[in-house]
Amino acid sequence: MTVEKGSMPNDKNAECTGDVMNSSASKTTMDLADKYLFPTYKRSHLVLVRGEGCRVWDEDGKQYLDFVGGIAVCALGHSSPVVSRALEDQSRRLVHVSNLFYTKPQVELAQLLVGNSFADRVFFCNSGAEANEAAIKLARRYSREKYGPGRHTIISMKGSFHGRTMATLSATGQAKIQTGYDPLLEGFKFVPFNDLSGLEEAVDDSVCAVMLEPIQGEGGVVCPQPDYLQGVKELCQEKGLLLIFDEVQTGMGRTGKLFAHEHYGITPHIMSLAKALGNGLPIGAMLSVEELSSAFGPGSHATTFGGTPLVTAVAKAVLTSLLNDGWLAHCRSMGEYFRSELENLKAKHPVIKEIRGLGLMVGVELEQPGAPIVEACLERGFLINCAQDKVLRFVPPLIVSKEEIDALIHVLDEELK
Ligand SMILES: *Cc1c(COP(=O)(O)O)cnc(C)c1O
Repeated sequence: MTVEKGSMPNDKNAECTGDVMNSSASKTTMDLADKYLFPTYKRSHLVLVRGEGCRVWDEDGKQYLDFVGGIAVCALGHSSPVVSRALEDQSRRLVHVSNLFYTKPQVELAQLLVGNSFADRVFFCNSGAEANEAAIKLARRYSREKYGPGRHTIISMKGSFHGRTMATLSATGQAKIQTGYDPLLEGFKFVPFNDLSGLEEAVDDSVCAVMLEPIQGEGGVVCPQPDYLQGVKELCQEKGLLLIFDEVQTGMGRTGKLFAHEHYGITPHIMSLAKALGNGLPIGAMLSVEELSSAFGPGSHATTFGGTPLVTAVAKAVLTSLLNDGWLAHCRSMGEYFRSELENLKAKHPVIKEIRGLGLMVGVELEQPGAPIVEACLERGFLINCAQDKVLRFVPPLIVSKEEIDALIHVLDEELK
């Protein structure tokens, strides 16, 4: 179908003045979204206009306690002064110049990430998918340089989620994410999470890396069994494979340590970060050990926007606050409290099958679909989320208080009856 420029209907021209809300005052934001945006999202029926701490407000002034946190993004909460200050300062100084030049905030953030992790090198990008894309490219290129062609397969996990670009959806072990996009990128193999012997059997001469989330997020908050990640690391060492941790969701303090793998006493060769790294500004990062750095020489990988002074200045302020203001300890204690309160609910409500999680990454698996509970919570002023149909997922700002958790528990108690 072709549309000629001159054939635009008059009402369409009228709406293209940029002042959309005024030119169609009778239309609500939701109607306009339905008309103009690709229908890629099944959104909750509310238009959010403001946020502060763990609370957000809709167009009608109704207040909600936010246990979604922008999907594990707004770790320091909404309208965090830490973010506002860094954003304002840096926006007056320098927003973007491209990676053709050195900029201070980017280097300072890299130094801070390296100083607080296993890693030696950082590549900045704009999202979780891009961070994983970089991880996949680095693993392939390093392995090719070291072993020659043919060693390119990456083993990832069933139920995993690594993003929506062609490479990262090809690495994602969920059919619903891949449907309709064939042919997928070659060179991915899937094994069940928490199955060490399944992983061992899948390793052949074509495999260069194992890629996994320390705790599966979109997969429904699935935790590793004791010693599983250690077993994966040992297998990687034995077979000369790279270990890639996708900490896009679990990283940046979500589980009560800066990175989830710290709980398990092991380190990967490569790690991807995004979500909470910029507290809502788009930034991703791919980190690795020194040995891999030469595989990403000049011209091997790049991005226009990745690591701009603006987003890295904000991320540096966010990371500094996470490390220095006690939020990791707060996250651990609030997470423990939240999960113990949920265990109390489980004892009362047989509809709860299992409580899972670590820190403030919490999943409640139900015996039935979670959507009606999500809807009921929304009505009562609580934003929660559902993963994999039956798992209520809670990833609130890490600054959430005991009183805010109590308020949610009270509502869940009534709605799960
Ligand atoms: C959200 C997520 C991604 C994708 O991040 P985007 O920023 O949406 O591209 C990748 N991996 C994990 C584990 C995630 O939770």
